Amino acid sequence: MKINTEHIRESVREFSFSEPPESFPVLAELAAKGDCCFKGAVQVVIKAIREFDHYRVQGNVTVPVQLICSRCLSGFDYLISSDFVIFFSEGSVAKEDEDEVELGELDLVSSVFSGTEIDLMPEISEQIILDIPIKPLCSETCRGLCPSCGSDLNKATCDCVIEPKQSKFSILKNFKVS
Ligand SMILES: [Zn+2]
Ligand SMILES: [Zn+2]
Repeated sequence: MKINTEHIRESVREFSFSEPPESFPVLAELAAKGDCCFKGAVQVVIKAIREFDHYRVQGNVTVPVQLICSRCLSGFDYLISSDFVIFFSEGSVAKEDEDEVELGELDLVSSVFSGTEIDLMPEISEQIILDIPIKPLCSETCRGLCPSCGSDLNKATCDCVIEPKQSKFSILKNFKVS
């Protein structure tokens, strides 16, 4: 997933890539830990152009995954899809103040490259990781598991009566002096 800067002039060039998730070290690590299960190839479509002293790479990355719902613990399919703009400047070290600006749905990221090739893999895997939900939900209305018997309340109902926990205060309230 590299672009040769010699091919990018002042006109926009389009590139598309398809790469198995295992080729990205960070994603392979996530999958190994069981945090995220990748179900297909990472697809990247970008437009690249030379602007002033940098290259502007704008595009979209998608990858199908299976996530575990944080409420009902069942697996569900999810499509990670992220739009990004990355500015690549020539240099060997990252700028001290990494100016990352979030503009709504679009992430603006600055990065560096050296030589005549821009390797997109590190930034692309970063984009994917940022798009993985921290608390995945199979549906906004997921009813989760019964805290008492563990039934999946999306599929079944149970007869458990969930008593609200007695607080110290409510115990005091019922305390009678005899
Ligand atoms: Zn759920
Ligand atoms: Zn129950």
